[in-house]
Amino acid sequence: DKPLVYFITPTYRRPTQLLDLVQVSQSIQHDKATYWIVVEDASHGSKRVRDLLERSGMLFAHLAVNSPEAPKKLSKQKMKAMNAPRGVLQRNLGIDTVESLGVPGVIYFGDDDNKYDARLMEAIRYSRGVGIFSVGFRAEALYCRCKVDPMTGKVTGTTNRWFKNKVNYAMDMAGFCVNSELVREKHARFLQDSPPGKIEHMFLQQLVEDVTDMEPLLNNCTLIYSWHVKTVVGKPPKPKDSWDPAWKQIR
Ligand code: UDP
Repeated sequence: DKPLVYFITPTYRRPTQLLDLVQVSQSIQHDKATYWIVVEDASHGSKRVRDLLERSGMLFAHLAVNSPEAPKKLSKQKMKAMNAPRGVLQRNLGIDTVESLGVPGVIYFGDDDNKYDARLMEAIRYSRGVGIFSVGFRAEALYCRCKVDPMTGKVTGTTNRWFKNKVNYAMDMAGFCVNSELVREKHARFLQDSPPGKIEHMFLQQLVEDVTDMEPLLNNCTLIYSWHVKTVVGKPPKPKDSWDPAWKQIR
C-alpha cells in the first residue's frame, strides 16, 4: 500500500474555474493513492464542483469556507496589488480535514490554475518531513530552481531572487510538500496576516528550522513536475526573465 498524497486545492468561481479543475483532475486522477481535497471559497460547495469530483473517480473531500471579507474600500485590483493572501482559510480547512481523517500521508497544496505532471504524486509521497522541488514559471521567471549542494545533498537555497537568507524560505506553493504527521505535531497553519509574498515562508518556518532540513525531491530538484501558471483567455503575458544557461539542466 502506497502512502497517501493529500492534494489540497482551494478554488473560487470564475469563468475559467471548470477548465482549470478539469485539467487538475485529469492530471491527478490516475494516481490511486491520491486523496483530493477541494475547498471552495464560498459558503457552500457547488454542484458543478461536486459533479466534477464524482466524475474523477478519486477519493475526495468537498468543502467550502469563505475568505475573510476584503476591506470595503479596496477594489479587487488593489487587493491583488497588495498581494493579499489567497486560499489561506481554504488550505487550512484542508489540513483540518487531513488531521480528522487520521491517516498519515503527504500533503501537497495544488492550486487549481497551475499545471501538474501526473508523476508528481509518486515523486513526493515518500517524503517524511518537508520536501522541496523546482517549479516552472515562478514569479515571472522561467523557473524557480532549488540549489542542492552536490557533496552533502542538502538544500542551500533557491534561484528565487527574493531568497535573501537561510531563514527566508522563498519557496513557491507548488514547490513543496509536507508530511501530515509533521504538520500535526507542529500545529502548523497558513496565516492570513502573512506579509505580501510570504505566505509559504510563514507556513514553512513553523515546520523546519533551516533550509538544510528540507528534503530535495525530484532528482535533486532537477526535474519540473509543477508549473505556476494562470489561465488567461486572450493574449497571455510573457515571462520577463531571459534564457538562463542553468535552464538546460532542467528537463
Ligand atoms: N483562490 C481562492 N479565492 C480567491 C482567489 C484565489 O480560493 O479569491 C484560490 C485559487 O483558486 C487558487 C489559489 O487560491 O487555487 C491561489 O490563487 P491564485 O492562483 O489567484 O494566486 P497566485 O497563484 O496568483 O498567487
